[in-house]
Amino acid sequence: MFDLVHVWVIRQLTLGEFSSRRAVVSKAAFMAAKIAIFAYLLNIVGHLILVALGLLPYPLGAALVVATMLTPPVSFVVAMIAYSVVGLAVYDLGMSRQRFEMLSRTDMLSGLMNRRAFLDTFERTRGDVALILLDIDRFKSINDTLGHKAGDDVIVRVAQCLTDLLGEGATVARIGGEEFAVLLVGPRNDEALEVAKSICRSVEAMGFEVAGLPVSVTISGGVSAGVSELGFSELFSAADRALYLAKASGRNRIVHARELAETALDPSQRAEMQLEPVAQRKTA
Ligand code: GH3
Ligand code: MG
Ligand code: MG
Repeated sequence: MFDLVHVWVIRQLTLGEFSSRRAVVSKAAFMAAKIAIFAYLLNIVGHLILVALGLLPYPLGAALVVATMLTPPVSFVVAMIAYSVVGLAVYDLGMSRQRFEMLSRTDMLSGLMNRRAFLDTFERTRGDVALILLDIDRFKSINDTLGHKAGDDVIVRVAQCLTDLLGEGATVARIGGEEFAVLLVGPRNDEALEVAKSICRSVEAMGFEVAGLPVSVTISGGVSAGVSELGFSELFSAADRALYLAKASGRNRIVHARELAETALDPSQRAEMQLEPVAQRKTA
């Protein structure tokens, strides 16, 4: 019984049947009507048993008239009040839970998904994917010269730029201070490099101003692609090393992880940047 109630409450907390206050009230009316019918039938059966036992102290006809006039409305009103009170409380709890869940998955500054939500989305994704990691260039100097508030504004503008450019078709998150991640799924992963390059161009063309003065904002990115079954950390580290190369080779550019193996670097540079191919690292 306790388990049944527990399951019921959890189901309601996910706002299935109690998706709005109106839904609570109509569900309460429906349940109260069922309870009123049930109570009325019980009342009749009770009277019949008393008659059979010879224990009914007044005539059955009069008893049934009173039972018919009183039991359904009284039990309906009591059940309606009880179910509505519990239902509305459960609805409010469900709303708080949903809001808390939303807050715990949202980056408050940019309004984008946070790292946790991005990881969850990745874990639920199957098949071909591409991961783009983006990092605003020389962001520390924006903070240092223009102030932390201007830095925050830049983060918000870049986030807006990503949302405008990518729309609903991609998962976009702010995964760290001035770092963003984009997940492309399915055939679109072929376009990842082009998508990343257009992000790079759009950020550069964004036209950010502080106190009427233009401020140059650029972004660098690393791209990796593969099947999601490879795992997040595998794709992340490939994209991260590509991003590192984009930074090392001048910033305001995008590097695809497949370019890493092709890049001619001397062994000391490769060691410093940990640029050995992912597969090689895995088996090492
Ligand atoms: P690089 O081009 O190599 O990426 O250089 P960078 O200056 O962008 O990178 P670095 O990691 O040195 O600096 C990142 C800075 O971002 C340091 C940190 O104080 C700042 N930061 C992190 N989170 C926030 C934030 O939410 N708001 C602001 N304004 N600054 C932040
Ligand atoms: Mg960074
Ligand atoms: Mg940076």
